[in-house]
Amino acid sequence: MIERLLTDAFRRYYRSHEVPAPPAIEQREFGVGAYGRKIVKRHMSFASEREFQNYLKTNAPHYISYSVGYFEYPDAPSMDEKHLLGADLIFEFDSDELGLFSPSDVWVCPHCGAKGYVKEFLDRGKNPVACPRCGDPVKVIMFPDPDREERLKNEVDTLVKDFIIGEWGVSPSEVALNFSGNRGYHVHIRAEAFRELDKEARIELTEYITGQALDVRYFFDVTQFPLRGPKPSDPGWPGRVARAVVNALSKAKRVSDLVVLGMDAASARKLFHDRAMFVESVKRGVWPVPTKRGEDIFAPIQRLVRGLSPYMGKEVDTNTSVDIHRLIRVPDTIHGGTGLLAKRLTDIWKFDPFKDAVALPSRPELEIDVDIAPEFEFAGETWGPYRNQKVLLPLHVSIYLISRGVARWTLTSES
Ligand SMILES: [Zn+2]
Repeated sequence: MIERLLTDAFRRYYRSHEVPAPPAIEQREFGVGAYGRKIVKRHMSFASEREFQNYLKTNAPHYISYSVGYFEYPDAPSMDEKHLLGADLIFEFDSDELGLFSPSDVWVCPHCGAKGYVKEFLDRGKNPVACPRCGDPVKVIMFPDPDREERLKNEVDTLVKDFIIGEWGVSPSEVALNFSGNRGYHVHIRAEAFRELDKEARIELTEYITGQALDVRYFFDVTQFPLRGPKPSDPGWPGRVARAVVNALSKAKRVSDLVVLGMDAASARKLFHDRAMFVESVKRGVWPVPTKRGEDIFAPIQRLVRGLSPYMGKEVDTNTSVDIHRLIRVPDTIHGGTGLLAKRLTDIWKFDPFKDAVALPSRPELEIDVDIAPEFEFAGETWGPYRNQKVLLPLHVSIYLISRGVARWTLTSES
């Protein structure tokens, strides 16, 4: 029932909105999903944008994804037969994978059925991992949270501005950004130069961005005194590190601001006192670091690195960004698990996913049984909190709650 209701709503959307086809559509493999299943059919291809748009209007799939790869025979049944010609470089940011929890998120235990708000865990200084009742792993259901959105946007912005455009010199016209339709963002790099990179090269690039395996010691010449090191105007990581040190010192208001970076208290006091001179000196690549014998002067600098790279999750080599065989949501299509659009963005800072990406209409209203939902903003209004109650809600917010797994719609309650 709910499946048909969604298909009808999606079809109405696709009949009144033309979705632009991904670039080089004839070389892409497509996959489509149905209610609750992201991929039910793959190895599909479209010869033209028109054919693709007609498919959406006729079939209104609950999910539609396309290959990051370009293929000679995109509809061939196996990877070998498809003949890979190249692949876009895509970076994914997902608040779930990044472990960005919000107090108003809901946790549920699939084993014993216990549920509650993530706040209960965070208040005790814990992450929502094990069910307090039975000890099994819990599932976290994320709800709109403006603070989390801002953190996520910051990570995306750092990647795009500092690395892709700022350091690699990719033209902004070859970088496409879209909301994922659920909990994150996708950054697509379509520049020719990146297409031929194999998986290993993609892992290296991702490790470079995240600063993993980066040892700041190599930026310094320790045979000279005072130390010779990077200048803020240097390219790449050395310059980025020098700029961060200059920035941290310029912003420091008291000695403790330097101690938190991991400096010895006496060295921090001396550095704080001489900070104006130190900053001027670093600008010339000379680092007159005050040290005590045996102190690791590079540790505080190393510590700064983490704050300078976009966080993309713990294990880069298993990150989907490096997979050249994967399918990814077609931008501007509906994500069947939320009813939100995987919307293409021009300015990420002006975008509110829970308002600007709402694809479904408010009518009809559905009477649904909500198990648990916090107070949250959606489609420009405030909803909830709800706990074990029947509520009559507009279609878009009903579908959002049902697809999050916290509400049900039964035939008898059809309105
Ligand atoms: Zn449990």
